[in-house]
Amino acid sequence: MAVDTAAYTEQTEIQRDITEMVRQFVDEQIIPNAEHYDHEDSFPEPIVEQMKELGLFGVTIPEEYGGMGLDLTTYAMIVEELSRGWISISGVVNTHFIGSYLLMKFGTDEQKDHFLPKMATGEIRAAFSLSEPEVGSDVQGIKSTAKKGDDGSWELNGQKMWVTNGLGSGVVFVLIKTDPKAEPPYKGMTCFITEKEPWKEVNEGDFAGLTVPPKIKKMGYKGVESTELVYDGYRCPPERVLGGEGDGVGQGFVQMMDALEVGRVNVAARGVGIAQRALELALRYSQERKTFGKPIAQHQAIQFKLADMATKVEAARLLTRKAARLKDAGERSDLEAGMAKLLASETGKECVEECFRIHGGYGYSKEYEIERLYRDAPLLLIGEGTSEIQRMVIGKKLLQRHAV
Ligand SMILES: Cc1cc2nc3c(=O)[nH]c(=O)nc-3n(C[C@H](O)[C@H](O)[C@H](O)COP(=O)(O)OP(=O)(O)OC[C@H]3O[C@@H](n4cnc5c(N)ncnc54)[C@H](O)[C@@H]3O)c2cc1C
Repeated sequence: MAVDTAAYTEQTEIQRDITEMVRQFVDEQIIPNAEHYDHEDSFPEPIVEQMKELGLFGVTIPEEYGGMGLDLTTYAMIVEELSRGWISISGVVNTHFIGSYLLMKFGTDEQKDHFLPKMATGEIRAAFSLSEPEVGSDVQGIKSTAKKGDDGSWELNGQKMWVTNGLGSGVVFVLIKTDPKAEPPYKGMTCFITEKEPWKEVNEGDFAGLTVPPKIKKMGYKGVESTELVYDGYRCPPERVLGGEGDGVGQGFVQMMDALEVGRVNVAARGVGIAQRALELALRYSQERKTFGKPIAQHQAIQFKLADMATKVEAARLLTRKAARLKDAGERSDLEAGMAKLLASETGKECVEECFRIHGGYGYSKEYEIERLYRDAPLLLIGEGTSEIQRMVIGKKLLQRHAV
């Protein structure tokens, strides 16, 4: 029997260097400042500017367009580190990453040349919009429509909901119905690349017809804005149909679902990051706080909590990286991405709750970081498909792969 004598390593040298660099950035710039931006619910502009300098908006964009050209696995490692600091920061890059994925996979050469270099530097940031006021999980039920006008442009009308980076973004990848009679409905949907003025509530000139209502007030995930978007007679030129009119019209649903698969790995990485931070905080606090004459970490009940947390973090990390590696290897990863998203987001929530319990009354105080994590973690159970939807995806794929 052959024995593998190579030293065990989880990361390549490049991955190690990058995650160490990001970890240092998180420890020095994000963790000490997150409380301020969370409290004010204000956009962390100085942190985002530094992320631009570090090249973090172009991690997966090919080098020929000015990015780093790294794979999904390395990106997931970076997202884990950022989320360990504050998940809102990973929210600033998440929709941008999905937008660049859509362009790289489906965009025309002109679309890639036009957007990717500016996206790699973070000069323009991207948002991604499926959800509507009446539709989240059941994406085929969207109501927004686009109609082709006599001048060849498309007129977009409808209301979108929960758009992360909805105000600050310069481009929104938006799913719209172009054939309301299509059966099944997904065949009549198209992804439009809609440009807008960053940070402008009422767009004018070429972008007239797109308004951004005031940001939605949220329980957590502060700092990064979530908004509605109102398209009211917005004109989108034909060359801004993702993939071009010939290949792109009617393909939007399939394109967006493909992007959600990588998006799920990304949310899974966020779950691992927040769970890891909860574990770190619990390890520290439990060794400092004393009850009944000894640090609470010396009580077996607390040690069991720490043991369960650490085990779950490690399992979620491994599954997340497996899903990312499968995708990088060009293999199907829909099942694994769903599993990773389900396990890691639930692990994030569970570890945060255990850390909160370990903090006793102080966990309820805004002076402790765990209070913010407690408000941030639930988002991961919802965004990019709820846990129920992940179970539906996993169940369906299992039965497809093991049909009798
Ligand atoms: C902070 C935040 C940021 C977001 N950012 C974005 C974004 O950038 N872009 C974007 O497009 N969307 C975004 N979303 C929207 C998000 O993707 C949706 O909220 C999510 O998909 C759930 O949809 P919903 O809220 O309409 O819930 P619903 O679909 O109404 O579901 C309600 C409940 O019913 C359950 N349910 C639904 N269908 C079934 C079923 N068939 N079987 C069993 N249970 C079911 C769900 O799991 C959930 O528990 C964001 C949401 C939040 C909160």
